[in-house]
Amino acid sequence: MANFLDTDEKRNWFMVRKETVQDELICLSRRDFSETSVICVFFSQQYGKISLLAKGVKRPRGKTVSSFDLLDKIRASFSINPDGLGLLREYTTTKVWSDLRKSIDRWYVAIYISELINISTKELEPLPAVYQLLDKALTTIASADSSEKLANIIVRFILRLLTEIGYKPELYKCVLCGRRLTPDDLLFFSASSGGIVCRDCEPNVFDKIRLEHRAWFCLLGKVKDRVSALLAFDILNTMLREHLGKVPVSTEYCRERIFGEQKITKL
Ligand SMILES: [Zn+2]
Repeated sequence: MANFLDTDEKRNWFMVRKETVQDELICLSRRDFSETSVICVFFSQQYGKISLLAKGVKRPRGKTVSSFDLLDKIRASFSINPDGLGLLREYTTTKVWSDLRKSIDRWYVAIYISELINISTKELEPLPAVYQLLDKALTTIASADSSEKLANIIVRFILRLLTEIGYKPELYKCVLCGRRLTPDDLLFFSASSGGIVCRDCEPNVFDKIRLEHRAWFCLLGKVKDRVSALLAFDILNTMLREHLGKVPVSTEYCRERIFGEQKITKL
């Protein structure tokens, strides 16, 4: 639909049409609004992130409406309000990743990626590839049977999300001189420059940090151990802070539980 429209045009488009649309939605967050209603942030397959008032969803199951929970997928009809809250009209819950709730670590990783999508996208910005990424990630997380797998899911997810929102880091060539880098090179990374920096160029870069080879190999998908994944996660967090201005609240939990960071006791 209206992918090519800018924000004002989008507003006019929806105001003129005043239509109810149908789509698949995944619930990124929900908070109470009244005794029976909640305000939810969804990620929609066609329309991107959207906030909707969901009336009556707090009634017990089996009454006038069924219910849905955080991270459930629904098929819904809803009206769009470009200036504020839209209204969820009818819906059917189509997918519940029940295995996510069977492990606190899986649950936190799922919360982490939903939070990351929430803070990295704007309302009514159509990003169907991000919807697919979220859908697939939830399925993969629900069947992950080790912290190592969860850690690598997070690293791959951040890399793909950064790519989809226009901040794909350069991992093969120095972002300043364009030289292709090899395992023999001393490597640096600069979030503001958008990728790897070589030894010759690093004196000119204020925010460079050392990029250890094992972190580089993990970013390239060549190694998967948790120590390398943690180092890669830290590199990616510099990108998130640079381009989003923040990281998900669940980042520290993931660092400790999923990536297995050992706390160092300072004397
Ligand atoms: Zn260079």
